[in-house]
Amino acid sequence: MQLYNTLSKKVEEFKSIQETTGPVADENPKQVKMYACGPTVYDYTHIGHLRKYVMDDVLVRVLRHAGYDVKHVQNITDVGHLVSDGDEGEDKMEKGARQYGQTAWEIAKKFEDYFFYSMDLMGILRPTLSCRASEHIQSQLGMVLTLEKKGFTYVIENEGVYFDTSKLETYGELIGHDPRRTLRASRIGEVTGKKNPSDFALWKFEKAGEKRQMVWPSPWHQRSFPGWHIECSAMSIEHLGPQIDIHTGGVDHIAVHHTNEIAQSESYTGKKPFAKFWVHHNFLLVDGQKMSKSLNNFYTIDDILQKGFTPAALRLLFLSSHYRSEQNFTFQSLTASQNAFYKLLQAYLTIKKKRQLELAHPASIAPSTTQADQEAQKLLQQFFAFVENDLNTPEALSVVWQVLKSQLSNTQKYRLLLEFDRILGLGLIAMSEADLPISDQKLVAVNTLPPDLQKLFKQRETARKEKDFTKADEIRTKFAQAGYQLIDQTDRVLIKHQA
Ligand code: AMP
Ligand code: ZN
Repeated sequence: MQLYNTLSKKVEEFKSIQETTGPVADENPKQVKMYACGPTVYDYTHIGHLRKYVMDDVLVRVLRHAGYDVKHVQNITDVGHLVSDGDEGEDKMEKGARQYGQTAWEIAKKFEDYFFYSMDLMGILRPTLSCRASEHIQSQLGMVLTLEKKGFTYVIENEGVYFDTSKLETYGELIGHDPRRTLRASRIGEVTGKKNPSDFALWKFEKAGEKRQMVWPSPWHQRSFPGWHIECSAMSIEHLGPQIDIHTGGVDHIAVHHTNEIAQSESYTGKKPFAKFWVHHNFLLVDGQKMSKSLNNFYTIDDILQKGFTPAALRLLFLSSHYRSEQNFTFQSLTASQNAFYKLLQAYLTIKKKRQLELAHPASIAPSTTQADQEAQKLLQQFFAFVENDLNTPEALSVVWQVLKSQLSNTQKYRLLLEFDRILGLGLIAMSEADLPISDQKLVAVNTLPPDLQKLFKQRETARKEKDFTKADEIRTKFAQAGYQLIDQTDRVLIKHQA
C-alpha cells in the first residue's frame, strides 16, 4: 500500500512501525495505531468535516482490507481550542456556550451527539476509541509537568506555561523549514512575553475577571486549563503508546497544531518519530469559498437531507475527488452525484434480483467462462490497486462503472459491487427498492394525514428511536390497514398511498 506522508513529502510504501523495526512484545504484529484529530464540539458538524472523516474512514477500511488490525483513536476537543491558533482569544467552547445560551458542558454534549449522528448517517465506522479532552486532564497535566522538569517550558505571568521551541533542534520538520523565521512577522494579537514567535501554550491561565466555565487547578494557577495541542499528544500517548503509525488531520493543522504535537510529544517521550505517517486532508470549499456562517454557505447533514439529498450521494461526491486535492462543493455537483448514486443503486438492485432468480433456477445459469473469471479478477485487482495507491478513490470509482458495463454474470457483478462497497461504504448491502427515489406525487405529507394517524406516526418515530421494532411494525400494519405504506429510509420515513 502506498500513502503520501507529509513528513517526507513523498508517496511512500506503507509499512507499520512493527513491520519496519520488528515485532513488539505483547502487541499484535499486524496492529496499526492511528490517531485522528477529532472535532471541536462548539458548533454543528458541517460538510467540510464530513469530507475529512469520510476519507479517514476510507483509510481505515483500506488498511483493514490489507490485513491490518487498526486501532483508531479519535478525540473530542471539548476544551482549550482557542479562537486563534496563536493561543490568544476566547475558548471556542465558551464562545459556543454564549452563542447558544447554554453551558459549555451542555454545548459539548449537544455537538458531540450531532457529530456522531452525522458520522453514522454518512456510513462512517465509529473509531475504536473516542476520547474527550476534558476527561484526560491529569494525563495532559502530567505531560506538562514532565516537560517542565526536562527544561522545555517557561511560565508567562497571567498567561500560561509555554513550550520553548528553541530548545528543540528539529522543531518545524513537518512544514519543511524552521517556522520561527516565517512566523516572526505574521502573527497579529501575539501573546507578549513569548521568547520565540513559534512558542506555544501547553497550559493556560484564566485571565482576571474572565470567569471561565471550564477550569482546573494546577501547580501554576488555581483556575487553569490545557492548551489545545497537548490534548492530542496526551491522549495519543495514553491510548496508543509513545509512537504511532499514522496521524491524520486537515491541512490547516500542519503548520501549528501538528508541528506542536510533534515537538511536545517527542520532547516528552524522547522517542522519534511521534508518528511515522502524517496524512493530511485537503479542504472542502463551497461555491469556491471557505465555509462560514456569515457567507451563508455552512451546511450540515440536515441541510443536505432537507434539500432532498441522500447521505450516500454526498459520500459518493467526496469519493469522486482525491483527498489531497481541494474539492469545491456545489448543489449542482451534489445533484449529479445523487443521479449517479441512484443509477448505481438501481443497477445493483436489478443485478441482485436477477441473481436471486437465477439461484432459484440453477439450471438457467450459464457456466462461467475462464475469460469472465479472469475479467472479474482483473477488475477486483484494479479497484484495490487504486485504493491502495494513496487512496485513489476517483479512479477506483471508474472500476465500479466498468463492472456495470461489463459482460460479467450477475453473481460476479454482485460479488464485486459488495466487495468494493466494503471500502466505499455507500451501504448498498442494507439498501432496497425503498431507498430509490419516489416521485413526490405519490408521497403523503404527515400533516395531511387524519389526526389519529398523525399521532400514530409520532408514536412510531419514538418507537424507532427507542429501537422498539415490534411496536414500529404494529403501527406499520395499522397504516397498511388504513391504505398507507410506510417506507423506512436511512434518514426519514416516507408515506405513500397504497396502490
Ligand atoms: P475542527 O472541528 O475545526 O477542529 O475540525 C475537525 C477536523 O475537520 C480537522 O481535521 C479540520 O482540519 C477538518 N476540517 C475543518 N473544516 C474543514 C473543511 N472545510 N474541509 C475539510 N476539512 C475540514
Ligand atoms: Zn489534534
